[in-house]
Amino acid sequence: STAYVNKKEEEKNSERAVPTTFGVFVNRSLTLENIKCYGFDMDYTLAMYKSPDYESMGFELLRDRMVSVGYPHELLRYTYDPSFPTRGIVLDTTLGNLLKVDSNGNILVCSHGFSFFREGDIDFYYPNKFIQRDDTDRFYVLNTLFNLSETYLYACLVDFFTRCSRYTSLRKGFQHGDLFMSYRSMFQDVRDAMDFIHDTGILKEQTIKNLDKYVVRDPNIPVLLTRIKEVAKIFLATNSDYNYTEAIMKYLLEGEPGSPKKPWRSYFDLVVVDTRKPLFFADGTVLRQVDTNTGKLRIGTYTGDLQLGTVYSGGSSDLITDLLDVRGKDILYVGDHIFGDILKSKKRQGWKTFLVVPELTKELQVWEERKNIFEELKRLDFYLAELYKHLDSGSKDYPDISSIQTRIKVLTHRMDMSYGQMGSLLRSGYTQTLFASQLIRYADLYSSTFINLLYYPFNYLFMAPPVLMPHETASQNSADVASTEQNVNNHVITSHRN
Ligand SMILES: [Mg+2]
Repeated sequence: STAYVNKKEEEKNSERAVPTTFGVFVNRSLTLENIKCYGFDMDYTLAMYKSPDYESMGFELLRDRMVSVGYPHELLRYTYDPSFPTRGIVLDTTLGNLLKVDSNGNILVCSHGFSFFREGDIDFYYPNKFIQRDDTDRFYVLNTLFNLSETYLYACLVDFFTRCSRYTSLRKGFQHGDLFMSYRSMFQDVRDAMDFIHDTGILKEQTIKNLDKYVVRDPNIPVLLTRIKEVAKIFLATNSDYNYTEAIMKYLLEGEPGSPKKPWRSYFDLVVVDTRKPLFFADGTVLRQVDTNTGKLRIGTYTGDLQLGTVYSGGSSDLITDLLDVRGKDILYVGDHIFGDILKSKKRQGWKTFLVVPELTKELQVWEERKNIFEELKRLDFYLAELYKHLDSGSKDYPDISSIQTRIKVLTHRMDMSYGQMGSLLRSGYTQTLFASQLIRYADLYSSTFINLLYYPFNYLFMAPPVLMPHETASQNSADVASTEQNVNNHVITSHRN
């Protein structure tokens, strides 16, 4: 529970001309002038998929695949509901539950199918209200925007089998006659269906057939990329294959009617496809050249110098930085995948990182609309602190705080529901989610889209708001006890709640 109400940050934002919707937010200070090279991911970064149409299409392909491998036809009645899944949800493959957790694995929200557990029910399944997140065999984090449709499909399956009278619910799955179907095998089937729609190319095929429906074509994309190329090197590193990359990038950079016909590849110093991130940031794979006429790979490992307009396949971040002749710390890498793009590039290569969080638009909007709830939560917290103010270890009277605690729960729930059924991507009441803690730790900058870089000059100094530790805030406040406002903030920062 770090400080999220930071007055200095608020003041700074109000001074700047950029409205918060277009803001680039700062976890660690960064001098843009020092960036010698900009790297971009493609899917959900340069290519902004239209939500919820794109997830909805993904869901339908997955659902249909499940039915074609033998799941009941009744599943076809389910349609995608964007208000249900939140990114960063953890799937418990043993008990079939979807969990929202904080950075330590404490459970904030838990659902089984579409029904949400009350606190007492959570205790029944998870006596410590805690999961051992490192148990990756049991717990699977649905980290990416591609995972949203998968999260929803899994909830549909659990919902269907729980309600269907032909199946009996057991602790670890469902019984149907003499067949047992575990939550774990259902999860595996969903994963396989996901691999199927990606590997066979049907998801890509549908996207390319309906580009206007699924991909945002913003005329600012070529403008920003052109400006970047004037001041720094620029590369594209995508896990997608060449043919798909070509179709998408052509649409984004050459498709605008009346735009100058400049080939999309000329916007970049280097294009790498099939990168297999996160492996790309470690050992990587063999670096090959792509024959841009046929889309086929040239055999053998590429050993020459960097050639402009050449497209490469595979490789690793080390090979790429060598080819571009840049150092890790001089690179700003922009991506949407907290693990594959951001955590790995930062942790293994020391790159500067920019996380694209499309949900931020909605998060900011709700935050703005629901500030009053948060203010009331702060007041309740202040009131709680007041009740304990004159007590010490010798005190025999305990104040009754149950009604305040109930009120805090009610308000937290109301705030959560403003974001969606699973609540905010970043918090539940005062507590930050696992996703939020990773965002703070690994993303130097973050924004709802990379396009917001358009609003900052290339010599801009992104300044991180100072974050004080609780003891520092406390000592700061004791020097200024007259300020009630400060006390409120202090208590918000130091209070800890599960
Ligand atoms: Mg991506």
